[in-house]
Amino acid sequence: MADRRRYLEQLVELGETEIIVPDGPAAVPQRAEARARQEAGPEGPKSIAPAAAPPASPRGRPAIYPPGLTVEAPAASDDLFTADPIARADALEAIAKLVDACRKCSLGSSRTRSVPGEGNPHAGLVCVGEAPGQTEDETGRPFVGRAGKLLDDILKAIGLAREEVFICNVLKCRPPGNRTPEPLEAAACSPYLHRQLELIRPKVILALGRPAATTLLNVNASLGDLRGKVHRYRGIPLVVTYHPAALLRNPNWKAPTWDDVRIARRLLDGETG
Ligand code: SF4
Ligand code: URA
Repeated sequence: MADRRRYLEQLVELGETEIIVPDGPAAVPQRAEARARQEAGPEGPKSIAPAAAPPASPRGRPAIYPPGLTVEAPAASDDLFTADPIARADALEAIAKLVDACRKCSLGSSRTRSVPGEGNPHAGLVCVGEAPGQTEDETGRPFVGRAGKLLDDILKAIGLAREEVFICNVLKCRPPGNRTPEPLEAAACSPYLHRQLELIRPKVILALGRPAATTLLNVNASLGDLRGKVHRYRGIPLVVTYHPAALLRNPNWKAPTWDDVRIARRLLDGETG
């Protein structure tokens, strides 16, 4: 029973809101559903067609994924938001300072250290995770716990050292108990992420897990629907894959993750299809 409960909790953590659990306690699917409704807003979720052509087998060289969603940058304007300190921050260090002083949501008061992100300011690849965990909260550095070691290995497998890329999260402060970010927290924190991406202008973005993918693509969809496509975030190709923490729990997802990151590598190398 405890195992089953943990399994259901994992599904929700992983954003697998569409998995049907026929005989489980209703609470978890309901919670996920209620949350999806809440996130969707009055017009309901944008629908996403499943990937037309699934990627080739993990053993073969996967075809570059078909196009997915496109998200444009908001138009620049001279309105009152030009006084927004986040929009005016002209370096990653300036964003890190704003993050450290930020109390826009309650996580700013419960965290130990803020975790703005780190890495190469001219990175070709930016990896976006969910939120700091315990080790990250203690050190102020992203992806340095167990999931971080796995991310290092994944990057190494596509010929990238951690120092070459930029690594950050949707939330810059740890949610207590590593719970999934609340929609309002992600909304409050995402301007920092958008500005980081605007300053770095990477060639490719790798979204690790559902919260990163849905925040960047501004859509309420399952990880399954968002994987297997090359989306466009403000003109930048964006690939969605599993979160490394999910891979630690489900080694079966390593093969599809390998496909995803090899696509990211090929986009980084300038291939388009
Ligand atoms: Fe600010 Fe983000 Fe931290 Fe909330 S999580 S206090 S919005 S930096
Ligand atoms: N998981 C994340 O999403 N981010 C981190 O920084 C560490 C673990």
